[in-house]
Amino acid sequence: MRRNGKGSLMRPDGLPESSSWPVVTPLSPSVVYASETPDALDDQYEGRAQGFTYSREGHPNAEVVAGRIDAMEGAEGGVVTGSGMGAVSAVLMGLLSSGDHVIGGNQLYGRSLRLMAEDLPRLGIATTLADPGDVASVEAAIRPETRMILVEVLSNPTLRLADIDGLAALCKARGLLLVVDNTFTTPRSFRPFDHGADIVLHSVTKLMAGHSDSMLGYVVARDAALTERMRVFSVTAGLTPSPFDCWLAERGLLSFDLRFDRAEATAAALADHLAGQAGVTRVLYPTRDDHPDHAKAMALLNGHGCNMVSFELDGGRAEANAFARAAQGRLSFAPTLGDAGTTLSHPASSSHRALTAERRAELGMTEGFFRVSVGLEDPAALLQVFSDCIAAATAN
Ligand SMILES: *Cc1c(COP(=O)(O)O)cnc(C)c1O
Repeated sequence: MRRNGKGSLMRPDGLPESSSWPVVTPLSPSVVYASETPDALDDQYEGRAQGFTYSREGHPNAEVVAGRIDAMEGAEGGVVTGSGMGAVSAVLMGLLSSGDHVIGGNQLYGRSLRLMAEDLPRLGIATTLADPGDVASVEAAIRPETRMILVEVLSNPTLRLADIDGLAALCKARGLLLVVDNTFTTPRSFRPFDHGADIVLHSVTKLMAGHSDSMLGYVVARDAALTERMRVFSVTAGLTPSPFDCWLAERGLLSFDLRFDRAEATAAALADHLAGQAGVTRVLYPTRDDHPDHAKAMALLNGHGCNMVSFELDGGRAEANAFARAAQGRLSFAPTLGDAGTTLSHPASSSHRALTAERRAELGMTEGFFRVSVGLEDPAALLQVFSDCIAAATAN
């Protein structure tokens, strides 16, 4: 025991002695951890004692976040990564080998698509995209060397639903791993393990952390041995999360249920409101009865919807520009989702700009098409902002 300058006792880690303790998880930025003896290190490495050594291999703030998301997903021992793409990489690069084949949903997150199109083939892993709403088309893509199917529950930005139950039955029958990116749905509206998924992953950056100030991912398998392989790969490849991002995410997770329910209720109200506006030609929201996957949404989403709404303005690029201009200072025109504030994205000029105009038209992403990630604003005021901006954009 040492004494600090003021004469009070210090613990071995240099903090003052205290018979009470903090109610908030301390932020632990330490990269290295000191041990008592070589024997103590043996105990730690051989699993007889709990402890940290080097933060790339794990640290207290990541462990706290993992434990919270484990509980939400009904999982155990999940791995927190430095981003959602870190989690996607841990699955695809940590579990697949040269010669394997993987099938991905044809409307996956843009960077996941890029990993499938560019990087996996470079490493000798073959990939095919298929429509996850159509089990027969996924089945037709299976080859003898197929190992896994990666899908999102809700597609971006058209909010189509994957047939998760059908895909789970297919994977079980054919001995494949079903991987579900649960970022849009979150465990509040969908728990993949309850529907037969083998692996669940998240961009925690989005709704779960919820304030656009923390970049993190999470991945877990039902089979602990697979989780361990992904953990080892993520330590080796350096997919480590920063303690500060974990600390912020823990704070976000404390209010996750409340935020999700609020944003979801406002999104449902906004969808109905938009459908009643002159100047709006189409509204997409999964639990509305005019959504093409309404029945699937009612069956899969546990009575919930989501915080995302997509809609089409009557007009083209000029009206879209006018809408974004009218929204300035009231909604953020920014390519993210799940923030505390409502954000607006224009797929044709951002997330889906690499597609040909024909493919975008096929998917319904016209120049007037916007995706809204609904935030926590006062609902009535938010609906009014949309009315005002649509009127300003489509008045001619
Ligand atoms: C954002 C996102 C990702 C990637 O997450 P990052 O935290 O940005 O790396 C993966 N999947 C989905 C569905 C996403 O929305």
